[in-house]
Amino acid sequence: MDVFKLYIDGQFTDGAAQFSSLNPATAEPWATIAEARRDEVNRAVEAASRAFGSESWRAMTAGARGKLLLRLADLIEKHADRLARIETLDTGKIIRETKAQIAYVAEYYRFYAGLADKMDGATLSIDKADMETWIKREPIGVVAAIVPWNSQLFLSAVKIGPAIAAGCTLIVKAAETAPAPLLAFAELIHEAGFPPGVCNIITGFGEECGTPLTTHSLVDHIAFTGGPDTARHIIRNSAENLASTSLELGGKSPFIVFADADLESAANAQVAAIFSASGQSCVAGSRLLLAEEIKDAFIEKLIGKVRGIVIGSPEQPETQFGPLCTIQQKRTIEAVVSRSLEQGARLVIGHQPIDRPGFYYPPTILDCSNTPQAESVTRELFGPVLSVLTFKDEAEAIRLANGTDYGLAAGIFTQNLTRAHRVTRKLRCGVVWLNTYRAVSPMAPFGGYGKSGFGREGGIDAALEYTTTKTVWLRTSDEPIDDPFIMR
Ligand code: NAD
Repeated sequence: MDVFKLYIDGQFTDGAAQFSSLNPATAEPWATIAEARRDEVNRAVEAASRAFGSESWRAMTAGARGKLLLRLADLIEKHADRLARIETLDTGKIIRETKAQIAYVAEYYRFYAGLADKMDGATLSIDKADMETWIKREPIGVVAAIVPWNSQLFLSAVKIGPAIAAGCTLIVKAAETAPAPLLAFAELIHEAGFPPGVCNIITGFGEECGTPLTTHSLVDHIAFTGGPDTARHIIRNSAENLASTSLELGGKSPFIVFADADLESAANAQVAAIFSASGQSCVAGSRLLLAEEIKDAFIEKLIGKVRGIVIGSPEQPETQFGPLCTIQQKRTIEAVVSRSLEQGARLVIGHQPIDRPGFYYPPTILDCSNTPQAESVTRELFGPVLSVLTFKDEAEAIRLANGTDYGLAAGIFTQNLTRAHRVTRKLRCGVVWLNTYRAVSPMAPFGGYGKSGFGREGGIDAALEYTTTKTVWLRTSDEPIDDPFIMR
């Protein structure tokens, strides 16, 4: 069994206990993971706080911090194959996806490396004759970064990159499910030469590790990605330390296909939207909204594509569809689909058992056009289940698309430019993909409305979330201050 340790204050260390991580493709344990509890959390937060206050970190120029991130990016590229293999073993995500994604993670670090020395303050045109007033931009302090199990390297890069660029220090908490890739990544933090305590990487369970971390009095900012129920805990926990928070949560994203769309392209994008990563993506396009007149033709196309999906071992390069990450996830999805069928949804394809060990659940399509309230339509499943609804006109498409508490992403397929703009304007969500889906970039802000959270990751402004401002007033007059009882 491979062994993964915690990384605290520049040292690899055992935890309070150990737990096993399962390979979802075999359901067998493959790695032993060190578990952080309150003591390890305290050590990590104190190390991050000491590092933040240290002369050496304070004295490091923004450009030098950028160079640290560049070194890290090079190391990620160098070790991408190993990290991808670990992520595939631990999460069940197919190797072609983990390889591509990890190589691209390096670009996020490069983007934020370039921003490190460009987060400038400002000089104010102040309304007082004898004053110079300027704004300094300063790092917000100690950051607790908490990520879910899927895409941990990616979801931590959009936190570590801007936080280090801004001059913060961090404790990154990997999810207790599939933490190995992030703990392996700690070796690269070490090799890149980050000073001890600047970036600590731990893992553990919600109550024993997440709660002491997010309530800790030395934590200034909590950057959280995960589900809305955990987010509520995070907000309550932040009442203890009054840390600022950013929340990247789930979604129930609509994928809207108008009758004039390029149906072949739309069908491929819909497959990517809901069946890549076995549907375990926050931006999964899990609600297909179809113009009534193309319903049958489009569903036929989808069925053909679904039949061609290569299901297999995630370690094989030809595999397109692997297992779910956990048995609980599989059971929940099976139960919700069964209930949705009882509620009147019609099974188009899927939902049958797959004769393999591990946590496999097949690509599944449900026709919910007569049951828009079926559970599969309203609940985020984080799995390969597509619920199909139909609309008569543009207004109905918009109403259905916005008929969710979430608001993360949406896809619109149409050849009509004016319609594309009109519908984009009316959708309540943070990302809209027009005639494409699931495109991401370090340059592009990402985040949601409503129950999908608040704050944005990616892009220039995300780095500013890791800063705060200091307004400095300099009186330029040599005359003594006169009347002390009036405001300056
Ligand atoms: P989760 O909310 O169960 O767990 C996320 C993290 O929170 C884990 O590290 C977990 O240990 C930690 N945690 C749990 N309880 C805690 C507590 N009391 N205090 C502090 N931390 C605690 O999420 P999950 O099931 O692992 O991931 C799936 C969810 O994540 C889905 O809803 C998905 O949509 C969402 N997600 C969102 C994005 C995005 O960028 N918007 C990206 C990926 C996943």
